[in-house]
Amino acid sequence: MTNHKLPILFLLMVSLLCGCQKKEQAFQYNVDKFYDLEILRYDVPEFDSLTLQQKSLIYCLSEAALYGRDILFDQNGRYNLRIRRACEALYLNYPYDKKAPEFAAFERYLKRVWFSNGIHHHYSEDKFLPEFSQEWFMTACEAAGVLYESAILPVMFDPAVMPKRMTAQDGVDLVACSAGNYYGEGVTQAEAEAWYAAHKDNSAEPLWIGLNSQLVKDENGQIVERVYKVGGLYGEALEHVVYWLKEALKYAENDAQRLAIEKMIAFNETGDLKTFNEYCIAWVKDLESRVDYVNGFTETYTDPLGITGTWESMVNFKDLVATKRTQLISDNAQWFEDHSTTDPKYKKEEVKGVTAKVITAAILAGDCYPATPIGINLPNANWIRKEYGSKSVTIDNLMHAYNEAAKGNGFNEEFMIDDEIRAIYEQYGAMCGDLHTDLHECVGHGSGKLMPGVTKDALKEHASTIEEARADLFGLYYLADPKLVELGLLPNMEAYKAGYYQQMMNGAMTQLVRIEEGKDVEEAHMRNRQLIANWVLEHANGEVEIIERDGKHYLRINDYEGVRRLYGELLAEIQRITSEGDYPAAKEIVEKYAVKVNPELHKEIRERYAKLNLAPYKGFVNPVYTAVKDAEGNITDVKIDFTEGYIEQHLRYSRYYSPLPDVN
Ligand code: ZN
Repeated sequence: MTNHKLPILFLLMVSLLCGCQKKEQAFQYNVDKFYDLEILRYDVPEFDSLTLQQKSLIYCLSEAALYGRDILFDQNGRYNLRIRRACEALYLNYPYDKKAPEFAAFERYLKRVWFSNGIHHHYSEDKFLPEFSQEWFMTACEAAGVLYESAILPVMFDPAVMPKRMTAQDGVDLVACSAGNYYGEGVTQAEAEAWYAAHKDNSAEPLWIGLNSQLVKDENGQIVERVYKVGGLYGEALEHVVYWLKEALKYAENDAQRLAIEKMIAFNETGDLKTFNEYCIAWVKDLESRVDYVNGFTETYTDPLGITGTWESMVNFKDLVATKRTQLISDNAQWFEDHSTTDPKYKKEEVKGVTAKVITAAILAGDCYPATPIGINLPNANWIRKEYGSKSVTIDNLMHAYNEAAKGNGFNEEFMIDDEIRAIYEQYGAMCGDLHTDLHECVGHGSGKLMPGVTKDALKEHASTIEEARADLFGLYYLADPKLVELGLLPNMEAYKAGYYQQMMNGAMTQLVRIEEGKDVEEAHMRNRQLIANWVLEHANGEVEIIERDGKHYLRINDYEGVRRLYGELLAEIQRITSEGDYPAAKEIVEKYAVKVNPELHKEIRERYAKLNLAPYKGFVNPVYTAVKDAEGNITDVKIDFTEGYIEQHLRYSRYYSPLPDVN
């Protein structure tokens, strides 16, 4: 699973969980903004410190990544490649004034097509319509000498044709009503489901039937499978992917990594799903390599039946500094357990910390580009996860880019109470966010124990809210502990204030921008944050309060140590509820603090947020990697460059990495 394509509202709200603190040069994070989208750039820190072998490996895997771009366009809709190519040709050859309003509207449309890898919104699934007329398009193409198939016109301009990439509407034929190209024309949901049911593998190590194929009707009306592989569907692109994976083999860091790449090559060559399982197992076992990657048919969110994988790739390498940080926390897990505010009888005698792996993304492609996940947790097959485990990572440099790009967008100026806390937040906010996440993941969830006879599901529908609150509170309590300064994880005893202020402001107020007016808080993490903030506010005796100034509400913390005491008290109670499996108490505390929203405050926060006019969705441009070669063709260095713009990047990808025919 990838933590995928989160609306940026979410990212803003969890900016506490973000980023890494490092000296800022004049790196340009903001690239472009149009419609509800903003394009950012991410830095690749430590790239220069990699060995030549590692850099070369990243280079080859990046080439393999970029060659899959066309596949995703075609999976998202069978006319997408034709539309993209007609538009790109017009963009390049338009003979008139490129500053005219219609051309500007056309340019925005093309930028949107690139962003969505097709003509449907990447998040809402709705088709977006051009803001220029069909007549303008036809006339302009004629003047520019651009040839196109007339079939693309209704697909682009008629709102009734292919209105949704994927529909989830009750009672309609999900396959027939979705524009995605996982099923050929005329295939119905019932036919596809019958085919999958007939071919389902019920063995102990099941094959993921349908992961890498399109179902179509043959000339006799029978459903047949067209497999994605070299020589099969998308073979022209997969040949290039395979070529570069083979090049990558030359630079593999160790045998485990080599084995996984070999299996991925074999899978692309044969389409054989048993080989895919072997690949997943080999990949999940490769824990030592610095460089890692995702490459292939992975997530199934946009297949209306949730079976076929969309093509994606992300090349990355371990962030050693951040991983060292999580190691340090995890090494001290017993100390944290012993010193928390919970009743000794609920503590674990022997606690094991978890080391979270933090990575730096080096290239994003396919369904990870331009919009991208902020975490990866693979493989997806449950039986492999159970038997062999999974890799779960957070992508630090992307989070950092979101954070940096959000600076100066007016959010903190609007919602934080004064310059003093804004200054503390500017300096320590990202650092506290990292640490709080680490504490939450590495020691928070693993802390405490259940009393004999109490089962994990005792808290029923409130279990996940209570569990997230427990991990969050554990992290919050320790964020203000001198132990962190002693361990060198925080520079001083002021830094934690950034984390405390952010948690209280977000939980009590600003996360409400994500809730529609009139609705309750539903999602477990949001409930947990509101539970903590509202409980602390109600039990506070002047330590923290919400005040009104010029008709606007602000959070004010008067006594940070007092807030820590309150976090500690609540942690003890939440641990008691968990350890005892006290369902009535869980229900009461969740219903009292976590669910309901003050309607006036909610309205005010949403109005203030709307005035900031922030783009809710973000995506990225990639850096450009160039291999320097000697006379024999050996790579002697890999250069990285961050200057390419959004339009230039997509035009270059379409020119050099576009091997698929129009119709596949
Ligand atoms: Zn959690």
